[in-house]
Order: sequence, then structure tokens, then C-alpha cells
Amino acid sequence: MASLYVHIPFCERKCRYCDFYSVADTEGVEDFLAALRREIFLRNDRFGAASYETIYFGGGTPSLLAPRQLQTVLACLRAAFRIAPEAEITIEVNPGTVTRESLAAYRSLGVNRLSVGIQSFHDRELAFLGRTHDRAEALRCLESSRTAGFENVALDLIYSIPGQTLQQWEENLRMAADLAPQHVAAYGLAVEDPTPLARMVEAGSVRRNSVDREAAMYERTMALLAAYGYEHYEVSNYALPGFRCRHNCAYWSHGEYLGFGPSAHSFWKSSGPGRGRRWSNLADLSAYMGRLARGLLPIAFEEHVGPCELVHERILLGLRSDGLHLAHLAAELGHDLRLRQDGMMRRLVDEALAVRDGPVLRLTPKGYLLCDEIAARLSRDVSRGLSNPVQRIVVP
Ligand code: SF4
Repeated sequence: MASLYVHIPFCERKCRYCDFYSVADTEGVEDFLAALRREIFLRNDRFGAASYETIYFGGGTPSLLAPRQLQTVLACLRAAFRIAPEAEITIEVNPGTVTRESLAAYRSLGVNRLSVGIQSFHDRELAFLGRTHDRAEALRCLESSRTAGFENVALDLIYSIPGQTLQQWEENLRMAADLAPQHVAAYGLAVEDPTPLARMVEAGSVRRNSVDREAAMYERTMALLAAYGYEHYEVSNYALPGFRCRHNCAYWSHGEYLGFGPSAHSFWKSSGPGRGRRWSNLADLSAYMGRLARGLLPIAFEEHVGPCELVHERILLGLRSDGLHLAHLAAELGHDLRLRQDGMMRRLVDEALAVRDGPVLRLTPKGYLLCDEIAARLSRDVSRGLSNPVQRIVVP
């Protein structure tokens, strides 16, 4: 099983906190789509034989594509690759960029999952984030997604917005859960260089919430969404039974994926156990299109990944998501935590940070708060007995 990711690098304007690659100018969409089609067909020789179970249109703002434009990309993917008949096909949409008609048109093209960037139901918070929509548009978008026939709708929220109180966050959460989407993703606001938000924090015009308040918001999120029947299946992701995001689950279980478009990443396993190759596209629209116009792949770098790196990643990804399968880790990558870290795992269970469920080590809500630290503790001796390091090749 493999996955396809398509990065649509256009936005109406840049949100204040965003460090994803996109440009706030939709002039070049048709030229970009022509380059994207070239990139897809350049990959078809080497990767055309696999079966692809998920397609994800991310960005950027993919919902700036008119349905006929999305249709050309989907037709191209279907011509170049073997897409499973029951594939999950997701598009990220922003309120205010879609109508009931455009959503119905996406649905008729085979898109079966919407990921809606709501972020907040408070207009003041939306304005602070620099979003282009308001609460009324968010609610209209969710209503339209239902009447357009979508039965799998995911909703993204951001917490720990500067100045946000625990009560305001809880109002957002309750509002979201009362709307009964199939999936909720709730991320703490990250302050990343070189965004305008990072400059505001640096200049002292904005103060971040305290670590304690952020932890309290996270704990409230876990408790409230559990009470509404959502399964907490990754640090920041919650789903009603049967509605986990298959695309993201594939990432978290080290599935193979191809990424298209500027800044998109790819990962593919190499022949031989415990090895892989990862590469990333140029995060620059004109350089991306220029390379493809010359018939070249738009790769910025690629790296060969060996067993150590894969073990590290598998431990972190497993703990972040639905649990680390100890037997699979040992069988696939030759690293048996039951032999190497049994004492450490017992301590995690004793401290109520994790539970052992047969061959699976799973973090508790308390453990999720310390996920990175726990992963680092369990990974401490990964390099013992394994060859590796990562070899990075910068493509000129
Ligand atoms: S709409 Fe999404 S991708 Fe675009 S600037 Fe805002 S957060 Fe970033």
C-alpha cells in the first residue's frame, strides 16, 4: 500500500503563523498545473506499479482550485498510477473559498474526505491568526459539506492562541464536537521562524501562553473529545470509530508515499530490510516549474535512510500514534525493545505514562504530554548493533 500527496502552493493571503510553503498570488495556477502534470508523468515509470490507497491534496489552499482544475490533476494521477477503487481521497478546504456547488463538484470527482481549516469559532482569534474567514463562513462551509454529500469531514482547530483562555478554548472544542464531524485535529499554535508571529513574539508585542496553560488546554481537549466518543489515535488527532485518516496513518506506520508540488516530501523503501530513501522537492514555485520545463525532476535533496534512523522514527511515530508494535519493530528492523528496554517500559507503565497491550506499548493521556521525551529515552541505545547514519545528497 502506498500514498500520494499533492501540494497546491497557493493561498488567498499568508496567515500570520504559517510556515508551510505557499504564495499569496493565484496568477500562476494554470502554469503550475502544467508543471505538476509533467512531474506526475516523470514519476510514473519508476512508481507506476504500486497500488495507491490514499490521495491527499494539501497546501497551501487546494480549495482555490476550480473543480475542473482538480479534475485534470485527478485524471492525471489515475492515468499514471494504480489508484485503489476504495481509495481515500482528501482535499483540504478553507471556509470562504468553497460553495455548496464546488463541494458537490469535488464529491462527484471521487473526493470522499474533506479537511476543513476552521482553526477557531471566535472572530477575534481568527483575525489574530490572519485567517481570511470568520465564524459565519466556517459554519456555512460545514453545512455545505453535508449538503454536498460528504460523509467524512475533518475539522482542524488551533489552541493556545496568545491571550486565549481555557474557557475560550473549551467553547471552540464544544462547538466543534456539537457539529459532530467525523474527525478533529487540534494543534497547539507553534511559533515558527520566519513567520510574522515569530517576529511579534520576538519584539514583545505578543506573549505566548504559559506552558502550564497550554498543557491544561491539551488535557481538556483529550477529556472532552473522549466524552464525545472520539478516539484519540495520535497526539493531535481524534476520530469517531471508523474515521481515522488513512493517509496520515500510512505516514505514521512508515508507509511509502510520493509527494508532488513544491516542498512536497516523499519516502520509499529500498530493496533490503531496514533501508529507505527520502527526498524533498524545491520549496520555490518558479524554480520548481523551471526544472520541470527542462524535463528534470524538481528535487531539492534526497537522503538514504538506514536502520538506525528508521528505528528512531518508528519509535517516535508509534508512540505519537496508536502505539508502538514491539514485535513488528523487532521483526522488520531488528530492534527488540523487549530485550533492550524492558526495565524502562515497566517504569513507564508503573508511572501511568504507558500501558502494555500484548505486543503494543501505548501512551496514556499523561504520557502523550511527554511523548518526545519518552521516545528519546527509549531510543537511547538505538545505534548499538546497527549500522547507519543518514547520507544526505543535495541535488544541484
Ligand atoms: S491558509 Fe493554510 S497554508 Fe495558507 S497561509 Fe494559512 S495556514 Fe498557511
